[in-house]
Amino acid sequence: MTQKTKLSTIIKYDNKAYDLEEIQSFDLSFKNKFNGENPTFFNSKPSSLAPVKAENFIGDISKGGSCNVNIATLDIHCSGTHTECISHIKDGENKVVDFCPEGFIPSKLISVFPEKSSNTTDSYHVPLTVDLVISKELLVQKIKDPIDSLIIRTLPNSSYKSTQNYDKNPAPFFTTEAINYINELSIKHLLVDIPSIDKANDNGLLGNHHSFFIKGKTISELLYIPNSLKDSFGFLQIQVPNWNLDAAPSRPIFYPI
Ligand SMILES: [Zn+2]
Repeated sequence: MTQKTKLSTIIKYDNKAYDLEEIQSFDLSFKNKFNGENPTFFNSKPSSLAPVKAENFIGDISKGGSCNVNIATLDIHCSGTHTECISHIKDGENKVVDFCPEGFIPSKLISVFPEKSSNTTDSYHVPLTVDLVISKELLVQKIKDPIDSLIIRTLPNSSYKSTQNYDKNPAPFFTTEAINYINELSIKHLLVDIPSIDKANDNGLLGNHHSFFIKGKTISELLYIPNSLKDSFGFLQIQVPNWNLDAAPSRPIFYPI
């Protein structure tokens, strides 16, 4: 009997070769359990399931059906990990699958402690009040070189984020200067664990989204980044279904090296 052949998935980057089969990967998404336990933003309704019903058929084995067949309802932007493209703020033919790379991209994971807006001289396109912000300086301390993709974990970080109500506990967001710095670093794919890179209510302007999408391709929001994963460089794959929409639920998988 011949021995089973071992699979290698080799990525060559910066004159080095990495075998992904030898690296532990991390799923940076929330599992959607469709049980009402998900983050809430903008008064979102929990994700829900309903069995398909027809004459003499119910798509629910627990109710006597021969198989499970569900219709899922979800608020893509406000209840779980998702990835969006410029179509989120500007109607266009290209949708999220057109902007999301199918393969791996070099990526850097950093962690930041958002600061009070009164601590920074950075600006924002609507008045800052008692907000927590991610300023340019916080990013400069953690990243200085251009890269395709940047993943940002906000601190403190724990599993409370899986059920956080962001209407009651407003999330931090980026200053104008921070987004401009992200553009200077030529970052094409930005991933964050907060529900939006903008303030929840910026009078519908979504100013940071507009700035980022001048050069950027995708923004992924509401990630969950486990504490067992340390800040590092690595390779990222953003998995999205083939949906012809501005955004889709997503599952970023990170291979730190
Ligand atoms: Zn969104």
